[in-house]
Order: sequence, then structure tokens, then C-alpha cells
Amino acid sequence: MTRKFTGDQILIATHNAGKLEEMTELFAPFGVRVVGAAKMKLAEPEETETTFIGNARIKAVAAVKATGLPALADDSGIEVDALDGAPGVYTADWSETPNGRDFVMAMTKTHNLLEEKNAPHPRHARFCATLVLAWPDGHEEIFEGTVNGTLVWPMRGTVGHGYDPMFQPDGYSQTFAEMSHDEKNKISHRADAFAKLTSACFD
Ligand code: IMP
Repeated sequence: MTRKFTGDQILIATHNAGKLEEMTELFAPFGVRVVGAAKMKLAEPEETETTFIGNARIKAVAAVKATGLPALADDSGIEVDALDGAPGVYTADWSETPNGRDFVMAMTKTHNLLEEKNAPHPRHARFCATLVLAWPDGHEEIFEGTVNGTLVWPMRGTVGHGYDPMFQPDGYSQTFAEMSHDEKNKISHRADAFAKLTSACFD
């Protein structure tokens, strides 16, 4: 049976400031206090699995073990059809440089690969998000969300994070990076997974 969340504090097991901000906004109506992993000085576990669920579980379980608090972890990425689903679970890895993450570089690499392949337009892609809510007694609930769209070039917009400037969700003429946080939060993959989580675990 699905377990309801009855606490007043939830640990968000992410070090990504953009994701923490989105989660804080999404949790605002539920009266649950949100604490980020950086504030709790949690180490970042290695994401060694090959699926979004596997990696989200690693992060949620590590955070619960370190703090004793119920923890919500997300793993997400973008799947590009013409690249056989890449970068997928490796989306963050594609942005790694010796000086930190560089998403302009990762988006440029994605675009260049599509050009090399002469991939036809529209270039379909989807953002995927998996949420794992884990409790200290080992119980877990898992939710998956997606948003379909196309990749555009050149990049457009300055709001948001990651691949937002090249992703145009289906049915919209703006990229995620041209939308306000509120607009994106209505339709994003994380919002989709989050709606499933709240309808199952929060009243
Ligand atoms: P992870 O979930 O921390 O492993 O990272 C997944 C990566 O996917 C992020 O670092 C972003 O590059 C990308 N990503 C996930 N969600 C979004 C989004 O809402 N907008 C833009 N990029 C995203």
C-alpha cells in the first residue's frame, strides 16, 4: 500500500541549487519544510546505476542513512530520440569539465552530434525525472514523470538550468529557459513526477 507522508520536514537529497529551488517552490503549498543536502553537509554519493530509478534510490537511501530524515531524491536527464536516448542518465556527465559543469558545452556537443548525423527536424527529445521518497525504516515510493519536446538551435533564454535553453516543450513556442519558473513548474517532467508523488503520499 502507498504510504502517506506525515512528517513536517523533508530532506531533498540534491546538491543542485536549481533543482532544490524548483522543489522548494513545488512543496510550498503543502506546508512541509524543505531542507537541502548541502545544508546538512551530505556527501554526494556516486551514481553508479544505469537507470534513473537506480540512481535516485542511491541518493535517497544515502541521505536517509546519513540523517535519519525521510528523504526525496530525484534523478533526471534528457533523452534525445536521434541519439538513441543519449545522454539520458549520463546528462550531467556530458557537462563535466575539470572546472565544474558546463551546459553550454554539453548542449553544443548534443547539437553537433545531431548535425553530424543529419538528424531530421523536429528533433524529438524528452526530459525524464524519477523521484524516490525513502523513509528511515526502508520503505520507498517511486514516481516517474516526463515532458516531450524538441531540441532547438541556437539556444534561447536565460531562465532555469541545464538543458533548458535548447528544449522547447510540445505545444509551446518558448524554450524552458524563456519561461518563468511558474510556467515551467506546471508542465515539467519534475512537476509531472511531483504531482504523482503528492497525489499518492500527501493530502
Ligand atoms: P542529475 O539528475 O543530477 O543526475 O542530473 C541530470 C541532469 O539533467 C542535470 O544536471 C541537467 O543537466 C539535466 N536536467 C534535468 N532536469 C532538467 C531541467 O529541468 N532542465 C534542464 N536540464 C535538466
